[in-house]
Amino acid sequence: MSEIRIDDLPVREELRGKSPYGAPQLDVPVRLNTNENPYPLPDALVERIAERVREAARHLNRYPDRDAVELRTRLAQYLNDTALTGAGGRSLGTENVWAANGSNEVLQQLLQTFGGPGRTAIGFEPSYSMHALIARGTGTGWISGPRNDDFTIDVAAAEKAIAEHRPDVVFVTTPNNPTGNAVPAEAVLALYDAAQAARPSIVVVDEAYVEFSHGSSLLPLLEGRPHLVISRTMSKAFGAAGLRLGYFAAHPAVVDAVQLVRLPYHLSAVTQATALAALEHTGTLLGYVEQLKEERDRLVAELRGLGYEVTDSDANFVQFGRFEDAHATWRSILDHGVLVRDNGVPGWLRVTAGTPAENDAFLEAVRTLAKDHV
Ligand code: PMP
Repeated sequence: MSEIRIDDLPVREELRGKSPYGAPQLDVPVRLNTNENPYPLPDALVERIAERVREAARHLNRYPDRDAVELRTRLAQYLNDTALTGAGGRSLGTENVWAANGSNEVLQQLLQTFGGPGRTAIGFEPSYSMHALIARGTGTGWISGPRNDDFTIDVAAAEKAIAEHRPDVVFVTTPNNPTGNAVPAEAVLALYDAAQAARPSIVVVDEAYVEFSHGSSLLPLLEGRPHLVISRTMSKAFGAAGLRLGYFAAHPAVVDAVQLVRLPYHLSAVTQATALAALEHTGTLLGYVEQLKEERDRLVAELRGLGYEVTDSDANFVQFGRFEDAHATWRSILDHGVLVRDNGVPGWLRVTAGTPAENDAFLEAVRTLAKDHV
């Protein structure tokens, strides 16, 4: 075939010269680069998935439940069981929850609904880079908001940026990726109020990693805030990145609104059956989360012990530095058979908490580097 590249095609102007998002998928012994859960699903859950999927397979001649009602009901129960107890909030129902293929699709649907051509979204960077990319893909203008040098959000500067740009959508990632630190509830409330005063706009709190946090979810803040959306995923705490199931909790009107843009039958019957099976095993899966939190805390302590700077982490990963040439350090760690992530934050790298043996291999690799580093 003749040599035709993307830029030779009549692609949209804003896509010219761009590369697709994605971490390198390299075949190395220890992969700690995409914040996955290192534990395979337990056998009992694998069996339950097989049962549920076998049942769903009998009906694959029909479209799936378009509104995923059973799944949304179980997700709402999970949120109530794990986050709202004792917080004084009203419990969430099916009408408060929406699900899609990964939280990336959830975020895309939110931007298709509340962003789009002529509109803007703001995020406080460095943060999850897909927020800006999904904005671009949906024709939404992107505004890069500020952060302090220690990666906390500078609330006064953020309020100023919101007042100045009057964005239609505000993203707050807590715990933040790639830095790992959580955003205090008071800061989120201040940004919500600033966003309402400016436009009013939708505030999306991306809580992909919240189950790993020392603190609690911001779900109780939903009460009385119809423009707040809290997005979640089964890719991290549930150890089910391959399943592709994300969801959000919000006022029922927001759930109604995203249905204007969702594709009909977007969640396959197989996905719904698998997610429901995983939700039956929440207790076991959250047990792995506890182990990962301990391993995360060990990584933080040992890296600090070796003389590295480490950002406080509420997630299943740790940001460490500082390196004169972070990419060269990334390479050296890879030479030891350990894949970490260079997110392009100058001077810093990110490592996902793996199994104790994987973390030992990582620490051994950086111990070798530390001899030259400190
Ligand atoms: N939000 C954040 C902050 C993330 O880090 C990720 C995945 N890396 C996602 C959302 C998307 O996750 P998924 O689409 O697998 O649910």
